[in-house]
Amino acid sequence: MAFTLPPLPYAAEALEPHIDAATMKIHHDKHHQAYVDNLNKAIAGTEHENKSIEQLVADAGKISPAVRNNAGGHWNHTFFWDLLAPGGSNKPTGKLAASIDAEFGSYDQFKEKLTQAGITRFGSGWAWLIEQDGKLVISSTPNQDNPLMDVAEVKGTPILGIDVWEHSYYLKYQNKRPDYLAAIFNVINWDVAGKHYEAAL
Ligand code: MN
Repeated sequence: MAFTLPPLPYAAEALEPHIDAATMKIHHDKHHQAYVDNLNKAIAGTEHENKSIEQLVADAGKISPAVRNNAGGHWNHTFFWDLLAPGGSNKPTGKLAASIDAEFGSYDQFKEKLTQAGITRFGSGWAWLIEQDGKLVISSTPNQDNPLMDVAEVKGTPILGIDVWEHSYYLKYQNKRPDYLAAIFNVINWDVAGKHYEAAL
């Protein structure tokens, strides 16, 4: 079974003005599609072609760079689209809100720390909030790696992931990654992040 591109769970313009429609269209229809297509090519006719995306990600370092990059790209973007929502739900609630306050002091301090993780990731990659052995941890990964991979420096269950590749923001924000990061906090779907957290506990 070849992997397929999941549809965006909202219209491309739904996250305006924070994330513009042109960026969303290219990001989803071209970049994510390319990860799916290249993953299918990389596993076709190999022992890996019937594995789940979760298995491919978990064994990313043992397979090939093409699988590591494209399985990561497919998993990360599928996760990312669901974590964004039109209108935004403002702030975390419930258990996730309580754990963020306990771990980072406040939502604002958490936001600052996650923003810094995104800003300081050199080149392309992702900033993450993960659950790790009962604790919330902020980390970042290069390229299309993620915290579920065997090769990740900091491993854990992803709760929230923010794409900091230039393709996520360059059309609207050009070189200003901090402005993109400030804007994306307006469209995070905290209900979905909260569900990831409860499932990880
Ligand atoms: Mn991307």
